[in-house]
Amino acid sequence: MLNLPIYLDNNATTQMDKRVFDAMTPYFLDHFGNAASRNHPFGWQAEEAVDYARGQVAKLIGADPKEIIFTSGATEADNLAIKGVYEMYSSKGNHIITATTEHKAVLDTCKHIEKIGGEVTYLQVDKEGLIDLKELEAAIKPSTILIAIMYANNEIGTIQPVKEISAIARKNGVLFFTDATQAVGKVPVDVNKDGIDLMAFTAHKMYGPKGVGALYVRRKNPRVKVTAQMDGGGHERGMRSGTLNVPGIVGFGKACELCMQEMESDTQRISKMRDHLEKELLKLEEAYVNGSREHRLPHVANISFKHVEGEGLLMGFNKNIALSSGSACTSASLEPSYVLKALGLGDDLAHSSLRFGLGRFTTDEQIEYTIKAISETVLKLREMSPLWEMYKEGIDLNTIEWAAH
Ligand SMILES: *Cc1c(COP(=O)(O)O)cnc(C)c1O
Repeated sequence: MLNLPIYLDNNATTQMDKRVFDAMTPYFLDHFGNAASRNHPFGWQAEEAVDYARGQVAKLIGADPKEIIFTSGATEADNLAIKGVYEMYSSKGNHIITATTEHKAVLDTCKHIEKIGGEVTYLQVDKEGLIDLKELEAAIKPSTILIAIMYANNEIGTIQPVKEISAIARKNGVLFFTDATQAVGKVPVDVNKDGIDLMAFTAHKMYGPKGVGALYVRRKNPRVKVTAQMDGGGHERGMRSGTLNVPGIVGFGKACELCMQEMESDTQRISKMRDHLEKELLKLEEAYVNGSREHRLPHVANISFKHVEGEGLLMGFNKNIALSSGSACTSASLEPSYVLKALGLGDDLAHSSLRFGLGRFTTDEQIEYTIKAISETVLKLREMSPLWEMYKEGIDLNTIEWAAH
């Protein structure tokens, strides 16, 4: 039997893997020590578990365990990277380059940097969501200290040319930070092959627990440092104070190990389901894929169904499928997704988009249900829509002057 609702919002968060949960449980009750307690076995046991997890996390991204700074998640890691570099390298310059399609945790941190006297360049993207490498290079100036470009986008799945970006950064003596929250565990990410100096990621997007993540900080060629944003006991090599979330970190480590072992088979299975879903939904008239189909995460599809409102669609199948829509996605605002608008989509297409985020626990049966439910709902809503009727009569909706209200 198919259990409803179906979860296809894996870019927002993922269901924790049972094996991760099992690895964590002893660290809530039995092994409750503080990893910073140096004088007794409770502390030693916790420290040992954290060290082991640090190794698991580092291994997944090709890093040295000493380069992993545990945080409360990717938002904190984004803040620590950008604010930390800004403060640490202030004698070198105050200019940061980022892109308009970054996650809010990066964009809002950059806004903060501007408020405190920094300068930020926001690169535009093309219709696939990719930055222009020539524009990137042209934006670099003597005061540039950091390039902050995400690995893969959370709304459309577009993967940026990370190796090329890092080469440009390296050539110009600028640090390269990437928010790789959506990429780590889903596609091979290697901080050395990819030339990454700092990288944010989080456990709950890769079948681990919420509330734990990491910032990778390069220790060699070059040695990178960030100014702590949280002062205190000097944990995490002085870059992030605060008692470590031992059960969370143990779970994060296990989640990384599982991704390492299962990424290839997961990707194969999930991308096949994604491609099938996309192919079937594109049989509908006026349905468009948003973002790049070539440079894209294997589990993501963002599709607009013209003249159908995304939120209306979600209501149409009684919320039996958990999805996110490009309309009014930042709660309480009626503005459609800024990422879709950055691709050049009009408000209408942005409002009519759905983001499908498949995952490790998605089944073929769920995908078949989804194809059927969405196809039927789109057809039904269009049948009722005067806009669709006008469109079918060949009226160009852009030329209509709507009465003022
Ligand atoms: C989810 C997400 C974040 C925020 O991660 P948290 O661990 O929830 O703070 C940051 N960046 C990207 C790209 C994300 O997808």
